[in-house]
Amino acid sequence: MFSKILIANRGEIACRVIKTARKMGISTVAVYSEADADALHVEMADEAVLIGPAPAAESYLVIDKIIDAAKKTGAEAIHPGYGFLSENAEFAKALDRAGIRFIGPNIDAISIMGDKIESKKFANEAQVSTVPGYLGVIGSTDEAIKIASDIGYPVMIKASAGGGGKGMRIAWSEDEVAQGFESSMNEARSSFGDDRVFIEKFITEPRHIEIQVLADKSGNTIYLGERECSIQRRNQKVIEEAPSPFLDPETRRAMGEQAVALAKAVQYESAGTVEFIVDKERNFYFLEMNTRLQVEHPVTELITGIDLVEQMIRVAAGEKLKLTQDDIKLDGWAIESRIYAEDPFRNFLPSIGRLVEYRPPEEEVKGGLTVRNDTGVYEGGEISLYYDPMIAKLCTHAPTRELAIDHMADALDGFRIRGIQHNVAFLAAVMMQDRFRDGRLTTNYIAEEFPDGFSGAELKESDRLWLSAIAAFMHSKDVARRFAVEGQAFEREAEKSFEWAVSVGVQKVIAIVALEENGATVSIAEDIDSANQYTIESAWSPGDATIEARVNGTDVLVQSDRHMEARTLSYRGTKNDFYVRTPRAADLSVFMPEKVAADTSKFLMCPMPGLVVSINVEEGQEVKAGEALAVVEAMKMENVLSAERDAVVSKILAKAGDSLAVDEVIMEFE
Ligand code: ADP
Ligand code: ADP
Ligand code: MG
Repeated sequence: MFSKILIANRGEIACRVIKTARKMGISTVAVYSEADADALHVEMADEAVLIGPAPAAESYLVIDKIIDAAKKTGAEAIHPGYGFLSENAEFAKALDRAGIRFIGPNIDAISIMGDKIESKKFANEAQVSTVPGYLGVIGSTDEAIKIASDIGYPVMIKASAGGGGKGMRIAWSEDEVAQGFESSMNEARSSFGDDRVFIEKFITEPRHIEIQVLADKSGNTIYLGERECSIQRRNQKVIEEAPSPFLDPETRRAMGEQAVALAKAVQYESAGTVEFIVDKERNFYFLEMNTRLQVEHPVTELITGIDLVEQMIRVAAGEKLKLTQDDIKLDGWAIESRIYAEDPFRNFLPSIGRLVEYRPPEEEVKGGLTVRNDTGVYEGGEISLYYDPMIAKLCTHAPTRELAIDHMADALDGFRIRGIQHNVAFLAAVMMQDRFRDGRLTTNYIAEEFPDGFSGAELKESDRLWLSAIAAFMHSKDVARRFAVEGQAFEREAEKSFEWAVSVGVQKVIAIVALEENGATVSIAEDIDSANQYTIESAWSPGDATIEARVNGTDVLVQSDRHMEARTLSYRGTKNDFYVRTPRAADLSVFMPEKVAADTSKFLMCPMPGLVVSINVEEGQEVKAGEALAVVEAMKMENVLSAERDAVVSKILAKAGDSLAVDEVIMEFE
């Protein structure tokens, strides 16, 4: 076994690998860029080597610098994590030459599977079912149109070198093929330096289901069940689970056996993933093989009890698998939510900045329920625009799917992040949707369920009432403490009971609060003849951001933020401003002038912090609705900002290369 390994990655996956290495008694070396000097993976590793400036192209992607770091520290092997150099055959070759072991598969497997056209041909030969389509490079638009009509619409145009959801276009007609062919080629050229594209059938109502495989150098190859990753936005995964609610044992076995056949055909070793797309009749088709540890591997670990990183390290060190296919038992259900630094309220645009608060729920295994949180950040740390926007992977495991979902909803309620925008509320909202709970998933789920974007889950009537009680309870505690601080000890009965008007939106209730030692009894009345009683048990005190309470016997976690006069309560994806006032103040509040939002329609403002790649128009130019005005890059994504309506550009305030803050004005219109 190795005595020291280097991790050629950053963030949560570097931390994840270090944890297992440490458990196995292996010393660890981290590499880091200047932007990551204070990062968690640097702190966790036994040693750390600075490898260059912030941009990945000058640090995490420079093969020589990583090999130098390994030589300098005497690391015998390198784990590449995912992304960066993990699927780079040149990297594996360079390590070979340097006499350093690559913790991953052999070079040929990486090269063959790294190319979508080659891997599809290869899978075809190995009798693996592939998406119907054309298995060659397409030379011209005319050829593309002919092939598309042979396949039958709709079709998908894909970059052979593609990855991370880039370079893919769906086309339903000849016009769309012509357009998609050009733009897919352009994107492939600029993202991967390789403009080969191909066309295959677009599977409608598809589900993304993938098989985890594990193999050693002696040809022992097994599969560890599947993961369903159908909840995606921009073809990128957001929520994953294992097993899939859609597979029956026969389909699982058939997919597993094909995945193993493919792995054997490339003499695969280490952990890898064979991705399939599955249609509504449970026909499944090979998409691609990822020759690395997958982001969503924890859900497989949770249902199999197998540490995949440990297996990868053992295989790389030359050990044989001790597991056989019969040892693989799937136990219970696991769900992963990817917590991203992005704003679900603004079309999931990335967000950067300081993590003013970062309080994940506690990791624990209790009563058959597990919470696991893989993360690489810490409170006070910075989310920079140089790397990908994932903050953490929150996983739960339980005996059944329903319990795993409930547990996830609870864990999300307790996940507190402030300082940047994040998608916790969005994830919680999905957990509460009937369609998700019923397992009726497709890769179009987010587009279909949130056609107008996400604006917070709707507050249910029953939740509104007890949340009003919580708001009234918190406000009473605040006021009672103020009495105490002002020296008027909490002694007279009158200071333990309060009457408030609580409003949220246009809804108003009267709350009578009787504070007790450890909570309160709150009576909520909507009109004169109906009142609901809420018994709140809670140790909450003013200053705590999250309130943990038992309300009429049910445990809840609610997050609270002060915003001017309001108390913003977040629960299960809902986020609402509650106003708690004396009944008299509430009556007067209707006379308060309403704030009018400023008119911003004459400006193009930067929707997220990022770098200006290009300004596509000039001062004085007339632009049409939909025309591209500027391109801004943030977190590895290029965002084209288009005109919302016809206009004339009067002034341009930014230029290519500028780094802009959110809402900074890029140009003005007449
Ligand atoms: P996974 O299947 O493990 O979620 P994907 O197939 O979605 O990974 O993406 C492939 C790799 O590309 C991942 O290892 C990920 O780190 C990286 N990646 C993710 N998002 C992006 C992006 N927007 N641009 C470039 N690479 C990305
Ligand atoms: P990447 O390398 O970018 O991960 P994939 O080939 O794995 O590319 O595709 C990413 C996602 O795009 C899949 O998870 C699926 O949602 C969708 N997709 C890819 N090919 C098809 C297809 N032929 N039909 C329908 N959806 C597809
Ligand atoms: Mg993929």
